[in-house]
Amino acid sequence: MDLLDTLTDKGLRRELPTREEALAVLATTDDELLDVVAAAGRVRRQWFGRRVKLNYLVNLKSGLCPEDCSYCSQRLGSKAEILKYTWLKPEQAAEAAAAGVAGGAKRVCLVASGRGPTDRDIDRVADTIAAIKDADEQVEVCACLGLLSDNQAERLKAAGADAYNHNLNTSESTYGDITTTHTYADRVDTVAKAHGAGLSACSGLIAGMGESDADLVDVVFALRELDPDSVPVNFLIPFEGTPLAEEWNLTPQRCLRILAMVRFVCPDIEVRIAGGREVHLRSMQPLGLHIANSIFLGDYLTSEGQAGQADLDMIKDAGFEVEGAEQTTLPRHRVTAAGGCGGASACGGHGEDAADACGTGACGPCGGHSATGADVEAEAAAGESDEARTDLVRVRRRGAGTELAPNA
Ligand code: SF4
Repeated sequence: MDLLDTLTDKGLRRELPTREEALAVLATTDDELLDVVAAAGRVRRQWFGRRVKLNYLVNLKSGLCPEDCSYCSQRLGSKAEILKYTWLKPEQAAEAAAAGVAGGAKRVCLVASGRGPTDRDIDRVADTIAAIKDADEQVEVCACLGLLSDNQAERLKAAGADAYNHNLNTSESTYGDITTTHTYADRVDTVAKAHGAGLSACSGLIAGMGESDADLVDVVFALRELDPDSVPVNFLIPFEGTPLAEEWNLTPQRCLRILAMVRFVCPDIEVRIAGGREVHLRSMQPLGLHIANSIFLGDYLTSEGQAGQADLDMIKDAGFEVEGAEQTTLPRHRVTAAGGCGGASACGGHGEDAADACGTGACGPCGGHSATGADVEAEAAAGESDEARTDLVRVRRRGAGTELAPNA
């Protein structure tokens, strides 16, 4: 049986591929690409049909972070000319969230820059969750606030949060190359805390930071071990003014291979195309929908996405449908095993996990690490590199924190 038949078979049975099989997906040629997408698509349709879950980011607090994540436009010392503002008021955040929900989003991701929340910050976020759920109790709310201290996850859960996002971003062995102010172990600990509090876990990665294929496989297998309900796959947006501004390592084909590898390793988990979708997949975005079952609608934390209506048109044109609030995201066996994530939101979460994909920093899609010898070797082996499409990177100037209407 050839590689793709084996992986499809395993995906349909929810069986973990071997590391070698995952690496082989990343090493496939462009001639094999449509076969790879078709194989991952069969697994996707088995567990998620043709539904696409829409998520909407609300950046509660932007920039001025004391941490040094190399990929992040909000990092300490970032020269990126992003919006900078402190905490939105609950009603401002609820207004932004409502725009996303009106556009078709069933989950709202509340993100704040920073190492982690204070207890007062948890109070603010609790008030924001209440304002959002007062307007529409079916909305799933995911918080992404950085590293959690003891009891904070429980407080978020009690406040009505459905999920918590905290990404691993890259492999344990290269984590120190991208961030020095906290560790990979800190991140694993926060996902565990959210899990332990009964929040649905969302944890993902950033590709394109100069990592090797082995690093990508390592982080995806590590994520699978954490048993998240959703895995956001970010493609580095190399922001001018950050250490990774020159890291243009991705092609649309490479992005599709990475998504397929994640799908095969996480067959029945929500796989979300997160930050960098428009910048790196470009006109190949619809093929990504055959693999992933979830995207962000509209803009990201500090960068602009394509128009929300363009997202909706793309989903329809590609023959998919937006997942409704009444539909359960995860397959029945995962919901049953976990007891659901609570309430009418039916996000299919475990009673015990955390975090959702943001679009920047500690949380989601933005950056990467500087190229090492191994990275260059890996890139050469893959025969891939991308031209710098800085023309596609647009700093967010609308929505939360501005006077302009959000993109949803
Ligand atoms: S990723 Fe999060 S913690 Fe890291 S610099 Fe950005 S906002 Fe700060």
